[in-house]
Amino acid sequence: MKAKAHHLKDAQKKTWRFSDLIGDPAVGARWEKVRRYFFLRESTYDMTNRCNIRCDGCYYFEGSKQFAHENKAPEDWRDLMKGEKARGITYVVLAGAEPSLVPDLCQVCFEEMPLGAIASNGLRPIPRSIDYKIHISVWGDDETSLSIRKAKDMLVRQIDNYQDDPRAVFVYTFTRENIDQIHGVMEVLARHGCKVTLNMFSSPVGYTGPLRHTPQSLAHARQTMLALISEYPENLLFSPYSAVAHTHIRGLHDLYSCSYPRMNSSTAIGLGRSFRQYRADLTWDRTAACCVPDTDCTDCRHYAAGSAVVTARLFRHASDPDTFRSWLDYVDTYLAVWVMGYEKGENLCDHMVAPPGHGLVDD
Ligand code: SF4
Repeated sequence: MKAKAHHLKDAQKKTWRFSDLIGDPAVGARWEKVRRYFFLRESTYDMTNRCNIRCDGCYYFEGSKQFAHENKAPEDWRDLMKGEKARGITYVVLAGAEPSLVPDLCQVCFEEMPLGAIASNGLRPIPRSIDYKIHISVWGDDETSLSIRKAKDMLVRQIDNYQDDPRAVFVYTFTRENIDQIHGVMEVLARHGCKVTLNMFSSPVGYTGPLRHTPQSLAHARQTMLALISEYPENLLFSPYSAVAHTHIRGLHDLYSCSYPRMNSSTAIGLGRSFRQYRADLTWDRTAACCVPDTDCTDCRHYAAGSAVVTARLFRHASDPDTFRSWLDYVDTYLAVWVMGYEKGENLCDHMVAPPGHGLVDD
């Protein structure tokens, strides 16, 4: 214990060169594994303004994007994808409101852009010919789903549709009220061999309802996530640093400075220049563009936001071995969740590390 304390103290004092950080063979191998994906440049697309369920706290039905006129013409979508490719986009996220209602448009996107993910409630199977990752949203057990999503037997129907499907990742969103329900849900998903990742409810602008997190629920979610990582190493795609980043009392923007155009006025390089969030009518608006538009930025802890915001901060995390390993675990997790065929490795850092410039809980 004493030796570990000394080691930590030394790590804090020493200035590390990058070559030292990747000198450890396991760390060097992980760095090589993840950096092959640095070419990914994402944009997101609302495929339709319809959904077959209606969830409390859904950010899609906030703001004006829900009123965009739907463009249902496959050739317009094909042209859009060709244009996106031409301006350097390599990865698409098909979302809002429910892409499974327009499989023909998803198919066109896949034909033009082979890397991507679809956010779905999982109630309608998406044809296997669309080889994107499919993120299936789970908001608690079936009783909770019925009350906040107005849909019966969601988990059974989602598993029926996506068990044994290598595209599927179940995304469990912790609200203030459903944290303990993960244990039962996780047990069922693991029994069916499903892959799972964890998300935090992030309030839409103006939302003050019962799903919004409090300092107590953030702490509870963090402890629960850490326990699950040990309990379900085969099924859970997550890391201790993912738990820290997403349950911190400060949101992602406060911790890492969000790089999406909505919060980042710079168009010099990176997401500020390349990212667009298209509405169902194929228009986009720089001032509103991020992966979770109409989310309250001060409360943003969304897994999709973190995958870009935390990942972009390589240099801040290249400060000492534990911080760098934690960042690599985060990136490894994000790639396993978002990229077909990418397998998550073992976490390199098994304990919590504070975000650069912050404490584990608060400043
Ligand atoms: S909601 Fe999140 S991802 Fe979107 S601009 Fe705000 S901080 Fe960034």
